[in-house]
Amino acid sequence: MSEARRVAVLGATGSIGGSTLNVISRHPERFGAAVLTAGRRAAALDRLAMRWNPDYVVLSEVPESTAGQGWQGDWRYGTEAIALAAADPTIPIVMNALVGFAGLESTLAALAAGKQLALANKESLVVGGELVLAAAARGGGDLIPVDSEHSAILQCLGGRHTSDVHRVILTASGGPFREWPASRFSTIRPEDALAHPTWSMGDKITVDSATLANKALEVIEAHLLFGLEFDRIDVVVHPASIVHSLVEFNDGSTVSQLGHPTMEVPIQYALSAPEHLPNEFRSFDPVDAGPLEFERLRREDFPMFELGVEAGRSGGTAPGVYNAANEVAVRAFLEERLDFPGIPALVERVLSSMPAAPVESLEHLVEIDAEARSRAHDRVGTPLATRGDSTP
Ligand code: NDP
Ligand code: MG
Repeated sequence: MSEARRVAVLGATGSIGGSTLNVISRHPERFGAAVLTAGRRAAALDRLAMRWNPDYVVLSEVPESTAGQGWQGDWRYGTEAIALAAADPTIPIVMNALVGFAGLESTLAALAAGKQLALANKESLVVGGELVLAAAARGGGDLIPVDSEHSAILQCLGGRHTSDVHRVILTASGGPFREWPASRFSTIRPEDALAHPTWSMGDKITVDSATLANKALEVIEAHLLFGLEFDRIDVVVHPASIVHSLVEFNDGSTVSQLGHPTMEVPIQYALSAPEHLPNEFRSFDPVDAGPLEFERLRREDFPMFELGVEAGRSGGTAPGVYNAANEVAVRAFLEERLDFPGIPALVERVLSSMPAAPVESLEHLVEIDAEARSRAHDRVGTPLATRGDSTP
């Protein structure tokens, strides 16, 4: 049997990072965790390092003290060290489970170095757009989506050419406010938005699911991954999150991928594709799963959706501006400096103040991101003190 393939897990202390390590632990003959990274939660990374004993770990922020660190291996620090890990020549597979724009450099580095990139960090693809696709083409890297909807579309396509496709239909759970009247949206508190009905995820994507910004990011992600025009990408609400997406071919024949809502299936597929490895997940029972219900998206009540799709259509720097303003807005909402309807209001203001321009380089995108954040901060103030545990 061939040796286990080594995986760099970027964002190992997060929701997707943890699920990735679960998948790896179930297939020790196939995969190994070679590098683990985190943001500032040193103690959580230390615990994982004790369990996995990787080649090295990376923390993006240097902790005030390293006293109490249990793992005596190779600790590296800084955001640059994370991008270097993504390009490490000894590692064939990179899982990018970082959150937000912070993941862009690692996505570019992994693809330019020809890696198999399991991409959970959709923001990097959405913001980087053509730059990311060009890095994959240049470096020979293989970009495999972790998002359940895009994993579904990849499987539904089964290698068929997209010229056979009439349209794809992304499913959306609708989030916790699917049935709330818009008149109550100003009363929404962070804990309401964090109570997602079907998926347990990190805070940022959970809020994005509540505003439907996540679905807009996913429309742009589908456009870039599958080379489909925006008019050929639809969204339908499917509260049970069993049907992960659908592909309608030119003759009306429609194929979908189904499964219980667990991210471990798309994560495992992103590591093993095109193979479907055996697993111990609960077998799919159609009787248990049904009935399958679908609804139209309430576009007018969730403006983050249209704003995001419009930014995608404009292209260039617009998705980067949308994303940066959204990251600031989500943080401000979670810190109760902005109410729920304030999220789209803030993003719309920042977008309308920064017209879309062609993307010149990564440095250009970094500037645009900083400018959009600064304009957003001017309106809602800067974030509160850092969260999490900084000492191990
Ligand atoms: P979490 O917040 O749970 O985890 C984020 C991870 O990234 C943590 O390890 C965190 O470290 C690290 N991190 C955060 N900010 C930085 C930074 N600036 N520099 C370096 N490391 C950082 O997020 P999720 O796992 O929920 O989401 C990860 C990505 O996957 C997102 O792009 C999300 O949209 C996408 N995704 C997630 C799904 C899910 O089910 N969770 C489903 C589909 C996509 P620390 O612990 O130290 O803060
Ligand atoms: Mg998704």
